[in-house]
Amino acid sequence: ATPTAVMVATGVGAKNGVLIKGGDALERAQKVKYVIFDKTGTLTQGKATITNAKVFNGMDRGEFLTLVASAEASSEHPLAKAILEYARHFHFFDESSSAKDSKHHGNSSEFSGWLLEVSDFSALPGRGVRCVVDGKRLLVGNRRLLTESGVTIPQHAENFVVELEESAETGILVAFDDIFIGVLGVADPLKREAAVVVQGLRKMGIRPVMVTGDNWGTARAVAKEVGIQDVRAEVLPAGKADVVHSFQKDGSVVAMVGDGINDSPALASADIGMAIGAGTDVAIEAADYVLMRNNLEDVITAIDLSRKTFSRIR
Ligand code: ADP
Ligand code: MG
Repeated sequence: ATPTAVMVATGVGAKNGVLIKGGDALERAQKVKYVIFDKTGTLTQGKATITNAKVFNGMDRGEFLTLVASAEASSEHPLAKAILEYARHFHFFDESSSAKDSKHHGNSSEFSGWLLEVSDFSALPGRGVRCVVDGKRLLVGNRRLLTESGVTIPQHAENFVVELEESAETGILVAFDDIFIGVLGVADPLKREAAVVVQGLRKMGIRPVMVTGDNWGTARAVAKEVGIQDVRAEVLPAGKADVVHSFQKDGSVVAMVGDGINDSPALASADIGMAIGAGTDVAIEAADYVLMRNNLEDVITAIDLSRKTFSRIR
C-alpha cells in the first residue's frame, strides 16, 4: 500500500470512530488470527447491577449491606460502585429498612454518614477487598479470597453461588470475623452486538477467545451466551499478558480487546491492542487502536480496513 492509501485508511477509520496509532498497526491487523476479548466492560456492558443479596447467618439485611458497602467505599473497582448504590438504595428508599433516616432523603448519594468506619483497607487484585471493622476482619470478594483467607463456605451458600454462575451472574461472597455471612449476586449483561461480532470474526477465519479475572462458572456461561468456545478464566491481572503470549507462540498474529487497567499489559503485548474508548486511560495509552464508539462491530471494521488497504487482491 502507498503512504497515501495508509493515510486515506487512517482517515476512514477516524471518521468511523476507529483511531489508529500509526501505519504499522494498520498493516498488522490484516493478518490477525486470534481476537482475545476481555469479558467485563468489553464483551459485557460493564454496568454491574446487584440482583440479589442473601444473608446466611441471620444477620439483619440492612446491617449486612452496611458492612459490605463500608468495605467497598474505599475501592475503585466497578463492582464497588454497584454495591454502594444498592446498599444506599436499600437504606434510603426501602420501606423495610430500619436505618432509614428521613433527614437525609433526597440527597442520599452525597451522604455517607451511614457507612461504618473501616481500617486496614486493602484492595486485592483479582480477589476483592479486605478491611477491619470493630476490630474484626471483613472480606468481600470471590471464592479465591475467602478460601485463601481460611474461611469455610457452607455447602448451601456454595450451591447458591453456583446457581448465580450458571445464569451468567457473579457471586460476591462476604465473611465477617472469618465467618461466612452472605452473598451478593451481580449481573452484567452482554453488549447487544457482542454475539454477532463473534460470529462475524469466525466467518472471517479469525478465532475469538475470552479472558477474564472472573470465576470459571460465570465465564463459561457468558462465553456460551456470546458464542465463544475458547475461554481463560480466573486469570489474575498480571496473567492476561501471558495468555496473549501463549497464542503468539506459533507466530500467530494476536489482537487483544480490553477496557481496564488490568488489560493494559495484555494490550501492549498483543500484536494489535484495541482499547474500548470508554475504558480507562491506561488501556487507551497501551493500545494501537481506540474504538471510540464503544461498539464491538468496530473490531471488524478495523480488520476489514487493514485487509482492504493491504491486500493485493481487491
Ligand atoms: P475482570 O477481568 O473481570 O475485570 P478483576 O481482576 O478486576 O476481573 O476481578 C476479578 C474478580 O475479583 C471479580 O470478578 C470479583 O469476583 C473479584 N473482585 C475484584 N475486586 C472486587 C471488589 N472490589 N469487590 C468484590 N469483588 C471483587
Ligand atoms: Mg474489563
